[in-house]
Amino acid sequence: MDYSYCGTSGIQLPKISLGLWHNFGFVDDYETAKDMILYAFEQGITHFDLANNYGPPPGSAETNFGKILRENLSSHRDQMIISSKAGYYMWEGPYGDGGSRKYLMASIDQSLKRTGLDYFDIFYTHRYDPNTPIEETMQALVDIVRQGKALYVGFSNYPPVQARKGLNYLKERDVPCLIFQDKYSMFNRKPEEEILSITKEYGAGFIAFSPLAQGVLTDKYLNGIPEDSRAAKPTGFLRKEQVSPLLVEKVKQLNVIASERGQTMAEMAIAWVLRDPRVTSVIVGTRNMDQLKDNLNALQNLNFTKEELIRIDTILDG
Ligand code: NDP
Repeated sequence: MDYSYCGTSGIQLPKISLGLWHNFGFVDDYETAKDMILYAFEQGITHFDLANNYGPPPGSAETNFGKILRENLSSHRDQMIISSKAGYYMWEGPYGDGGSRKYLMASIDQSLKRTGLDYFDIFYTHRYDPNTPIEETMQALVDIVRQGKALYVGFSNYPPVQARKGLNYLKERDVPCLIFQDKYSMFNRKPEEEILSITKEYGAGFIAFSPLAQGVLTDKYLNGIPEDSRAAKPTGFLRKEQVSPLLVEKVKQLNVIASERGQTMAEMAIAWVLRDPRVTSVIVGTRNMDQLKDNLNALQNLNFTKEELIRIDTILDG
């Protein structure tokens, strides 16, 4: 595994991190989830990305992860970076969603309980909440660190203007934002507009989620929608309509370049995200061991020629 420093901090993250949004809940196969986590750690994936609502049902990914950790990896806690988040809907009533101090404080306590951890390495505000003053959300993050419930804090899904406000608030209180988490893939290049340069300016790292566009940037949808795929599942967040003929056509063309590079489509898509030195790590969300192994293989070839990048841009812009 290769590791990169997260922004200007002293924390190194593996180039590939494992995310538990899908595939690790009570609806999923526990043994497969356990095998993937143990294999990932063995391969140097030291960073595991969770959130309060991951499952389904919400919370179950944290419960499963906690059990796997307790039963198999408890002596390795100091070799791991474990992240969680709060920001999206989690429980009924006015205090289980958004960015209020009440929600963040209650949610981190629940997440610690579910995982059985004493602290998270990184705790994120999962999204910007326009109904809560940003100062309130930020101060909750500061206090979470001061209380020892998390070592570092991060932002996810923040628009640039609010990101800057929040980054300034934290910096002034000596609890700098460690990392920014955003959707980034060949099919979603929005972070290139502003967020990647803002994170660099503030010395924060950047971690990409959904690098495979939830599986669309693999060869699996080239001949229709397989039954066991995320797009076919009722519990998945990828809808069939999102696997559009236009995207599939682009993947077909990109797949030609991947083959020429001696990579699978998934490997090339992950390597492409990591080509930007501002990207600290990429979070993959695998359903089985084959996918995890395939994605780890991306690290065998992270270099792109200028010509390859131009050909990829041409396909993506087409
Ligand atoms: P990906 O884009 O990597 O999609 C993962 C899915 O793609 C898998 O479940 C699988 O789907 C398919 N897949 C993965 N590898 C392969 C492969 N080698 N070959 C074929 N298919 C493959 O990432 P996710 O969308 O899952 O996001 C990753 C992580 O990012 C999450 O677990 C979470 O930790 C984080 N995240 C954070 C968000 C935030 O708001 N901060 C939002 C979303 C994600 P299938 O079941 O079809 O096989």
